[in-house]
Amino acid sequence: MIRFGIDLGGTKIEIVALAAGGRELLRRRVATPHEDYGGILGAIAMLVRDTEAELGESGTVGIGTPGSISRATGLLRGSNSISLNGKPIKADLEGLLGREVRVSNDANCFALSEACDGAGKDSETVFGAILGTGVGGGIVVRGNVLVGPNAIAGEWGHNPLPWPTDDERPGAQCFCGHTGCIETFLSGPGLERDYFSATGKRLTSIDIEAGAVSGDAGCEQAMRRYEARLARALAHMINILDPDTIVLGGGMSNMQRLYAAVPVLWAAWVFSDRVDTALVRNVHGDSSGVRGAAWLWPDAV
Ligand SMILES: [Zn+2]
Repeated sequence: MIRFGIDLGGTKIEIVALAAGGRELLRRRVATPHEDYGGILGAIAMLVRDTEAELGESGTVGIGTPGSISRATGLLRGSNSISLNGKPIKADLEGLLGREVRVSNDANCFALSEACDGAGKDSETVFGAILGTGVGGGIVVRGNVLVGPNAIAGEWGHNPLPWPTDDERPGAQCFCGHTGCIETFLSGPGLERDYFSATGKRLTSIDIEAGAVSGDAGCEQAMRRYEARLARALAHMINILDPDTIVLGGGMSNMQRLYAAVPVLWAAWVFSDRVDTALVRNVHGDSSGVRGAAWLWPDAV
């Protein structure tokens, strides 16, 4: 059985076909029809049909997209593609494709991809933490995404930064309406704002890390504050979930120094005499979303 994974984003729709074991058979992408719900459905259906025709085999279909499907209503919410919000995308695609379709949040697909055949392979519980322009996450237990009645399992970005110091309170205003959210500290823009408020200078997060490597004191201090905050935020997750492996994704996950520094720092906050949790960089990079969508059918054979 082939698994098709589809990453439905605001600018592109990508499909991947995975053979058993995760080998990639084919990958295609098209531009996302702009704010045209019917057009988006049609583009997805055509990608699946064309891929099946090319491979001469049918398969399961999983879709990863921003936002989540409400268990209560079956409607998508929180998508950055506004035309998808409030629409029964799962039911409509099932009608078009004549089979069950599984839809999950793109952060869940990231965690699932890494848990199935990526950096969290062979771990019972994986927390996939995305540190990019925003902060999100997903949880996979024994190869299955943990969803929850509110479809928000793993969404740690809008919890408050734990164990805040006096100068971290109340923290920056977040778009969600609260202040001091983890996202306001640990996103790329969060690091950049922190560096600016300490130095009065504007640098990208990539330049801040590079500056630290070349010995710039302001950059180094910003990176150390970032690492200390990430350690506290992840320790808080470890105390609740106790995952075997934490896989980092998003642009900030490319900062190699995090993997050595943060596990040293989090020991002070984890309620245990030793911490055996692994902190690792993702394996599949930008492909995690589309591959994880395919793995929404973990047991298909
Ligand atoms: Zn928030």
